[in-house]
Amino acid sequence: MTGALLLVLQALIYFVTMAAVFHSRHRFGIGIFVCVLGVMHFLETYLAAVFFVQLPFGLISPGSTVMFSGKLMMFLLLYIKEDAETVRQPIYGLLIGNCLMVALALILRLYGDVAEMPGYQPDLTFLDDMGVLMVWGTALLFLDSIALILIYEKLGQRIANTLFKRIFLSAALVLTFDQLMFFLGLHLVSGVPISALYGGWIAKMAAAALYSAMLVIYLRFVETRPALAGPEPLLKVFDRLTFRHRYEDLLQKTGKDILTGTSDRGHFEAVAQSLIDRSLADRKPVSLLMIDIDHFKSINDQYGHVTGDKVLKEVARALDGALRSGDRLFRYGGEEFVAICQDLNAGDATILAERLRAAVATTPLAEPGLSTTVSIGVTTAKSGPVSAEQMIRDADTWLYRAKRLGRNRVESPVVA
Ligand code: GH3
Ligand code: MG
Ligand code: MG
Repeated sequence: MTGALLLVLQALIYFVTMAAVFHSRHRFGIGIFVCVLGVMHFLETYLAAVFFVQLPFGLISPGSTVMFSGKLMMFLLLYIKEDAETVRQPIYGLLIGNCLMVALALILRLYGDVAEMPGYQPDLTFLDDMGVLMVWGTALLFLDSIALILIYEKLGQRIANTLFKRIFLSAALVLTFDQLMFFLGLHLVSGVPISALYGGWIAKMAAAALYSAMLVIYLRFVETRPALAGPEPLLKVFDRLTFRHRYEDLLQKTGKDILTGTSDRGHFEAVAQSLIDRSLADRKPVSLLMIDIDHFKSINDQYGHVTGDKVLKEVARALDGALRSGDRLFRYGGEEFVAICQDLNAGDATILAERLRAAVATTPLAEPGLSTTVSIGVTTAKSGPVSAEQMIRDADTWLYRAKRLGRNRVESPVVA
């Protein structure tokens, strides 16, 4: 019992310290975090080879349970909050560093006689074993880290809404694989008994659960800036993921329409599908409203483009004010806007669209005597998968009907 508590204590200290160092990266740089990870690595491998404690469910290694599992979680944290390019640095760094260490250790064996120090005996067998285990562990770690990130990404396409499940499953799968493979190495090299396989696995699963819980708490309450993630086919592993993250990050920063301040078309393309997918994955309906200003060309023709631009801004502001707080408004084209409303069924979407229509119609425009109206087509998806493109097409059909029936009106399957 005390042994298990000590493990939990170690895991808590490990996670809290690492998370604190990670959190300070914007002030001090990510180098400190990566360096701490690297330093822990030597002790971790040493402990994993020689230090085991007997717990009720088997023989377990604090080095593997606390430090190795923890390190993988740190890679995941780095990936979630930064990107693949950043997490690649410690993964490759540990690989190269360990290879260098093994090479230097091999050369040590060429010195011949090692001077005797009173009270100390260099453990040459350990040094030899260490070399083999180090190579094996390093190769596994490399595979584990990449697998962890790929599984995390892959699961995101299915269970994006439950972060704990996603993190825990990714970690549990990778740690199970690692336990089997690393144990094989340990057994062959150090003759570690089979009871360490089972006990170590249980301990790693417990570590995965504890670390996942702490990671979710960290992501939910400590560092709440939304992570950049979305479904994407897993083709070119890291380069692809890095590119996607950079691309989405860029869009996040620049995705505003200059004239109206709403999100622009590029941003729509980047996020529309995942907004739809996420709502449907939560088993919540999602509605898309296509909004087009009526006879806008005649405003331009009569009052000029400068006034036309002002009207566009005012319409965007009126729409934004009438939407619910979580709804997303995009300037889809010249005088066309699209709203994506998660968790909004067809009936309520029609009511909301009617509110938008009324808001625009009653908004006084900057130009005296000038007013404008919009027509809105509404479509709703109740279950997936549904493409953004299909929803746009459907909403467009209803919009066209609204135009045909006289403009300044809402059309949807509910109205029809
Ligand atoms: P309808 O009711 O059928 O939608 O008529 P409409 O005149 O609004 O439709 P149409 O699509 O023919 O015209 C849209 C006009 O919007 C044409 C274009 O000159 C104008 N427009 C597009 N982007 C901008 C912009 O950024 N600023 C201004 N001032 N006008 C724009
Ligand atoms: Mg138009
Ligand atoms: Mg128009």
